[in-house]
Amino acid sequence: MALAEIVARVRAAEAAAGREAGSVTLIAVSKVQPLDRVIAVLEQGYRCFGENYVQEAAGKWPDLQARFGKVDLHMIGPLQTNKAKVAVDLFDAIHSVDRPSLAEKLARLAQERGRSPALYVQVNTGEEPQKAGVLPADLDGFVATCRGMDLPVAGLMCIPPEGEDSSPHFAMLAGMAARNGLGGLSMGMSGDFEAAIVAGATHIRVGSAIFGERAYAR
Ligand SMILES: *Cc1c(COP(=O)(O)O)cnc(C)c1O
Repeated sequence: MALAEIVARVRAAEAAAGREAGSVTLIAVSKVQPLDRVIAVLEQGYRCFGENYVQEAAGKWPDLQARFGKVDLHMIGPLQTNKAKVAVDLFDAIHSVDRPSLAEKLARLAQERGRSPALYVQVNTGEEPQKAGVLPADLDGFVATCRGMDLPVAGLMCIPPEGEDSSPHFAMLAGMAARNGLGGLSMGMSGDFEAAIVAGATHIRVGSAIFGERAYAR
């Protein structure tokens, strides 16, 4: 099973970067994976997973948690405002806060509930038109807007453009987090998580390297 190998690579990358062992959280991205592969990872004792689609996650994780116990669940995909309530009920962290209307909704839900999942602002570091995320130039203002709503921001998240060297994007995200006083850095996937760890990632999101190729791309 690939999980142990990925965990070993994470530990090696932490050591090589002079970082403490365990300072990077490995989120096992189980979106669109067959249930038997997810169960195999749960059976190895792993308890930190990421999902992209609220409906898919809501369809499997309540049952899986009833069977295996509490899992640390991260929402890493685009979040529609009308699914925000289901998302805050299910997830411990949301990595895709990317617009004022969603921030307002999350702030309202946090007030009602007296707590909030950990929130990460997604930044479109490559300024790709088809990609979600706040533009780099708008980031400081958006973080201030969230704080003005009493919405705590834990950190920043990015998905670098495909086919490009990720490292400059990781460095840019780390710089934006530092200047906004944010400790969390959600960056790095199957192909580039070691570079992300060098650049200071606190959370890496690894899917296919753990579970194998997804049956279909979404
Ligand atoms: C699917 C996905 C991942 C995992 O991608 P892999 O290349 O399979 O590791 C990470 N982050 C986000 C936002 C994703 O949508």
